[in-house]
Amino acid sequence: MANSDNNRRKFMATTLQSVGLTALGGLLWSGYCDEAKASPLVLRPPGALKEEAFLDACIKCGMCAEACYNRDSNIDKETGKQRPGTLQMAKGGDHRLVGTPFFTPRDVPCYMCDDIPCVPVCPSGALDMPSLLDKKGELDINKAQMGLAIVHKESCIAFWGLQCDACYRACPLLDEAISLEYMKNERTGKHAFLLPVVHSDVCTGCGLCEKACVTEKPAIFVLPREHATGKAGAHYVKGWDKKDQERVGNRKAEEIETHTKRSEKAPVDYLNKEIEY
Ligand code: SF4
Ligand code: SF4
Ligand code: SF4
Repeated sequence: MANSDNNRRKFMATTLQSVGLTALGGLLWSGYCDEAKASPLVLRPPGALKEEAFLDACIKCGMCAEACYNRDSNIDKETGKQRPGTLQMAKGGDHRLVGTPFFTPRDVPCYMCDDIPCVPVCPSGALDMPSLLDKKGELDINKAQMGLAIVHKESCIAFWGLQCDACYRACPLLDEAISLEYMKNERTGKHAFLLPVVHSDVCTGCGLCEKACVTEKPAIFVLPREHATGKAGAHYVKGWDKKDQERVGNRKAEEIETHTKRSEKAPVDYLNKEIEY
């Protein structure tokens, strides 16, 4: 009898253990799946294809991150020691697709190496070398579009009237990707603002400005381009831009009709309804 009780207890304990392990496995798996879905706000190495195509092409070999870590400029001249690499391979807990390369500018920005060692080593084409070649067929890091820097006016102390140009000074494309624009301080009437303005056609998204920003949480930060840019739509035409006029067959703006769901409905002048003039 005692023996059969022991067996029953053992059976119950084993069953509970299995259930526990299955639940734990489920939790780990769902965690892995969450990681696999990954954050869309991830910054990829220079020359990376658009995110979806990049994820299809990247074979998660880590060659780019290794080349970045081993780049010549990564040796600290004073200590002679290797510094952390810019590119990291995502692991569990990074909230990025596991095994793919990314960088976090506030930790380590991209130093925009002239020879871009991270790109030619990519064996899969996920980092597209031709997109970084200039007219002479030479690698040009200024053609990289890793992201776009955005200034949050409310936390940027230059917008408070304090003198700060740390981001401007840190930019390798100073006065091209970022400039300081003068604005009169109407509140005091005597002082001026010098405000950082990012130029989206030049900014590479290296994040050196984000790293240098003096505020507790950076007032300038890099987002992937598709999340940092808007789109006016094909039906808006710049009257002063010859190319834009040609795009619509040199028609005048008033000749261009815009059809949206809203425009299909007859407009109702409801504010003036029932008013006799
Ligand atoms: S260009 Fe940027 S990502 Fe590539 S090796 Fe240099 S620091 Fe690393
Ligand atoms: S991310 Fe910042 S530092 Fe880099 S190019 Fe753009 S404005 Fe300059
Ligand atoms: S470093 Fe930061 S606080 Fe200073 S001007 Fe640039 S964005 Fe503003």
